[in-house]
This record gives sequence, C-alpha cells and structure tokens, in this order.
Amino acid sequence: MTSAQVVVIGAGAAGLAAAETLREAGCHVLVLEARDRIGGRIWTHHEPSCRAPIELGAEWVHGEAPATRLLAARAGADIVEVRGRPVRVRDGQVSDGSSFWQQVQRVTSQLDADRVPDRPVGEGIDRAEVDESARVEARRYVEGFHAADLATASERAIARAEDVEGRGAARTSSGYDALAGALAASIDRDALRLGARVRCVSWSRGKVGVALEEGRPIGARAAVIAVPIGVLRERALVLDPEPPRVRRGLDAIEPGHAARVTLVLRRSIGELLERPDATFLFTDDDALPVWWTVHPLDAPIVVGWRGGPGARALLAGGRDELEARAIVALQRALGTTARDASALVERVWTHDWSSDPFSLGAYSFVRVGGLDAADAMGGVIDGTIVLAGEHLAGGSIGTVEGAIASGRRAARDLLRALGRPIDVAPRAS
Ligand SMILES: Cc1cc2nc3c(=O)[nH]c(=O)nc-3n(C[C@H](O)[C@H](O)[C@H](O)COP(=O)(O)OP(=O)(O)OC[C@H]3O[C@@H](n4cnc5c(N)ncnc54)[C@H](O)[C@@H]3O)c2cc1C
Repeated sequence: MTSAQVVVIGAGAAGLAAAETLREAGCHVLVLEARDRIGGRIWTHHEPSCRAPIELGAEWVHGEAPATRLLAARAGADIVEVRGRPVRVRDGQVSDGSSFWQQVQRVTSQLDADRVPDRPVGEGIDRAEVDESARVEARRYVEGFHAADLATASERAIARAEDVEGRGAARTSSGYDALAGALAASIDRDALRLGARVRCVSWSRGKVGVALEEGRPIGARAAVIAVPIGVLRERALVLDPEPPRVRRGLDAIEPGHAARVTLVLRRSIGELLERPDATFLFTDDDALPVWWTVHPLDAPIVVGWRGGPGARALLAGGRDELEARAIVALQRALGTTARDASALVERVWTHDWSSDPFSLGAYSFVRVGGLDAADAMGGVIDGTIVLAGEHLAGGSIGTVEGAIASGRRAARDLLRALGRPIDVAPRAS
C-alpha cells in the first residue's frame, strides 16, 4: 500500500487549489485524477489557426471573482471585460438586445434569498410583479445560466447566487487551462497521478483507504474528496461509511445540465450581422436559444447554449443531432439557406458533460428547501475527510471561482483539524 499524509481525489480547480494549500503548509499530498489530464470541467482547446481559446467547459469569469483574477495574474493570463452589445437576431434582422438583461434583472431582483418557506424558483418567477415577457426571459435565463430546473431549483439559492455571480462578465484571452496549470505548478510530478480512478474511500477517524479501479490501494491520514456532485450522487465513487450530512447534501444538490456547441466560422458573426461588437445573440430558436461571440477577442467563434432540462433532452440526441440543430439555429438567425449556413462552419466543438463518467452533469444547483443541507455538507468530518468542489461554494456555486474557494477552504479546515499551523500565504477566496 502506498501512503500519503493527505490524498486529494480529483484534479479540477477545487482539488488542485486544495492540494496547493496543503503543499504550502508542508503536507505530503498525493493527488489522484481519473482523467489523463488536469482541470476537470476546465478544458481548453487551442487551435493554432484561431486567435481565441476554445473552451469546452468553463469560459466566463462571473462577478468579481477575486481568487480567479489573482490566479490569472499569477499565471500571466489576461482577463478581459466583456463590454460589447447584446442583440436579438431573427432571419438576419438584428435589433438591440439589452432589454433582455433589464427584463431578467427586474425578475431576479424580486427573488428572495431569505424566503421562508423556500419554493421552486419557477414559482418565484411566476409571482414576480412584471409583465409576462419579462417572466419568459427570466425563465430562459435561469435555465440557461444556472443550468437549473425551474420546478425543482431553490428560489433562495438562485437569489443568493444572483447576488454574487450575476454582475458583469469577463473572459480569459489565453484560456482557462492556464489557471489550472498555475494551480498545479506547486504539485510535484510524483504527487499527481493521472488515470487513477477512485472507486471507494473507506475511512475511520484518522485513517483513510482508497481503492482504485486499477492498481494498489492507497492509505492516508486524511482525504479531500473533490469529485463532482454527479459522481457522488451516482455512487460512482463510494464513501464508506457515507456520513449522514453527506447523504443529506447529496439529496439537496443536483447536477444541472448544459448543451453547448462551439462553431468556428469562416467569417465572424459580427461581420455577417454588421455588428462587430455583438456579444450575446438572443434568437427564437427552440433548441439553442442563446448564442455568444468571443468579443472582444478577434476570432470567428460563436457558441450556442442551452441549459436546464431542455439541455438533457438535446444531448440525448447525440453529437450529430446537436450539430445539425446548431446549423439550423444559425441558418434561422442569419436568414440564409441551410447550405450556406453549413458552408460557413469550419469546425464544430462540443462535449457532453452529462454523459461524461467523471462529471455526470455540467454544474450544480440547490433543490427547493435544500440550502441548509447543501451548506452543511462542507467542513471536516471526524477530523479525517472533507469534500470540496463547485457544489460546495455557497453563492459562487457552479463556477471556477467557487471551486477554487471551496478547495482552499477545505484544505485550511483540514489543516486545522490535523493540528498543523496554518502558515499558508493568504489568498483571496
Ligand atoms: C459546459 C460548462 C460551462 C461552464 N461555464 C462556466 C463559466 O463560464 N464560468 C465558470 O466560472 N464556470 C463554468 N462552469 C463550471 C466550472 O467549470 C466548474 O464549476 C468548475 O470547473 C468545477 O471544478 P471542480 O474542481 O469542482 O470539479 P471538476 O473540475 O469536475 O473536477 C473534479 C475532478 O474529479 C475527477 N474525478 C471524477 N471522478 C473521479 C474518480 N472516481 N476518481 C478520481 N478522479 C475523479 C474529474 O475527472 C475531475 O478532474 C462550466 C461548466 C461546464 C460543464
């Protein structure tokens, strides 16, 4: 049996941030990652002919995101604010789209983070004192942005996330993967094992045993479990025993779904629509209603997006179907023929995070009435195991910022439980 003082399971933003904090405090850490790469739901493709990164997972920097911005500075990665114009597009006709955000804001500002009893966010939207067109936009936004199911997601949790994440947006010009790389830089080569799929973590106070799909088991004093909520809910990784507060948390948090298609075009959408500063494109397409460009980066990339239960249905049709729906949406937006729309597309990128066995969902949302159980899922259990990940990030749920903060918090809590001095350099989290 190999042994480590602390084993960290999952090399996404949360696991890497936890490992970095533990390393800085002098812990002997071993990171186990099922994939053959680090980053998890940060997955950037760099195409030599394209002047912008192609993000298959995280793309935007939402809200103030202090930890993300500091990390980007450390990585030498630029973060650029997105200040172009949203537009509505139909049959090649373009109109101002800024009313979308205004309508959404009128509704989300009426959602109540302290509401007792909690209720489905869809009900909160239905009751908002606005006209029906604003409600329609808000439903579309909450499903899209929060990847949430209107019938089961908590109004309180969505209202809380809106306070943190719903202000401003920026993107990295060099790609989110630079941030994952910066987090991993302090981890020694032999302290990171790729292709190591963990099946079971058995534990008792002060003792952890990790069973891998392949290879010898690993022993440790403590563990940070930084795998996605979908993996835990499906028991693709089993905690033995499963602490009651983890079980309650797993019932309270749900993996949301998102379908995203990235098209690399032969000409940019901004040029085709004669709106070079177009950012979001709101269309009337049922399958992929929202699109965005990579403005202000100069690349002919356009991304189609659908979140929530509709995304699940769309993904069920498979990659070919998704690509075909994307071309139809493009054709309708531009008012061209199917053939012209097809000819415009040079490359298509997509990844189904809901079927990916190492994510089993895109990012999380809290179920109605689940906020307290979701919040209580974090913290060190019996001085030995602690969970980390975007699902444990409170108001920053579903973001890279939240994952980093959660990983660092888990590591600091564990150091305290292990009785080690917390002499890690302070970082924003
Ligand atoms: C399509 C999409 C778009 C997104 N857009 C944004 C955005 O614009 N902005 C933003 O801030 N966030 C966005 N997110 C969310 C963001 O990517 C996540 O919140 C964040 O990356 C999650 O980090 P994590 O460390 O919690 O989980 P992950 O990154 O999923 O890391 C968990 C790791 O655990 C590993 N693992 C799983 N099972 C096992 C096992 N059995 N054994 C060992 N290892 C295992 C996984 O392979 C993975 O590497 C998006 C996500 C998706 C899917």
